[in-house]
Amino acid sequence: MGRGGLASGMFAVTLLLAGCGRRDEAPRPRPVGARPVTLNLPTSRETQACFADLSREQVRFSPLPDRDYGGGCSVIGSVQLIDIGVPVTNLKGMRCGLARTFIAWTRHAVAPAARQILGSDLVRVESFGSYACRNVVGSAANASRLSGHASANAVDISAFVLADGRRVTVLNGWRSTDPTEREFLRVIHSSACKRFGTVLSPDYNAAHANHLHLEDDAARFCR
Ligand SMILES: [Zn+2]
Repeated sequence: MGRGGLASGMFAVTLLLAGCGRRDEAPRPRPVGARPVTLNLPTSRETQACFADLSREQVRFSPLPDRDYGGGCSVIGSVQLIDIGVPVTNLKGMRCGLARTFIAWTRHAVAPAARQILGSDLVRVESFGSYACRNVVGSAANASRLSGHASANAVDISAFVLADGRRVTVLNGWRSTDPTEREFLRVIHSSACKRFGTVLSPDYNAAHANHLHLEDDAARFCR
């Protein structure tokens, strides 16, 4: 989790009052490998509303400074989640909208499915991370396109740990000999498809054999 800090919902309220509500403006593209630049963008109304939503949902988080990392990669309107009620490993910056959807999915789909289908409480979610400055992996047609991870708008979820000690991984659970593990993963996958714009599972391609890719876009793409 890293940067444990004092920032909390109160900080978000301060930002809410300070922002002047213009829309995010896309930063001008800078060369790949350029030094990260902190941007002085006004916090968009959408981001302010999202920060307020997280505070209302009792989420502890820090707003991150808007940064342009070069090569079209940027982190804008993003947060570092500190406490969403269940530990999530490996999370760095996430666009606030992605974080909000991810939290709702974890609380209202994954945790109840663990209890109902696997008979034990969810105690940890494992991820392969959110922000990464890179192109799409595993699809020749899209190989030159920047990944949703390059704008902190996607997260890769790899496993779920239960109170009884079981660890259900996407890699082994998707085609597990245990039907309850398969059902659990199918149920949370279809719930993810109702919440996120793009969801990629082991059924999509080999690059996704070991995780669910969850992206907050408008693609309505569920595989
Ligand atoms: Zn991904």
